[in-house]
Amino acid sequence: MKFREKLAGFMYGRYGGDQLGIFIIIVNVIVVTVSWFLRQTAGYYVCLLLSAALLALYIYRAFSRKREKRAKENAVFMKIITKIKEFFVRQFNRIRYIGKYRYRKCKKCKTFLRLPRKQGKHTVRCPKCGSTFDVNIIL
Ligand SMILES: [Zn+2]
Repeated sequence: MKFREKLAGFMYGRYGGDQLGIFIIIVNVIVVTVSWFLRQTAGYYVCLLLSAALLALYIYRAFSRKREKRAKENAVFMKIITKIKEFFVRQFNRIRYIGKYRYRKCKKCKTFLRLPRKQGKHTVRCPKCGSTFDVNIIL
């Protein structure tokens, strides 16, 4: 058997790579880079251990036969990444539309609402959950 066929046979039914796997590799590269600056200190060995642990975790996940469990882990990871991305997009939009809009969180469903920039106290109705609440736009 050729090596490629052998590899395909070995990987059959195993989980393989995903976004969380890529993230683990990126973190590992960062840890290894940091370790270069910590040579001759105890931190170097901590980085080495951490790097080995990350590599072991990556291999464990990639070769795992519990595909559903690994997919669930990745889904949780992607949910967190989406939240972080949304946070940064929101901060960017706050600055971008500083002259036009203000952003406020609905107190009930936690959805962010984009409100027109009108100074003073207003009652706002959330379009998602229908609850009303007061906002005070100072600037
Ligand atoms: Zn709401």
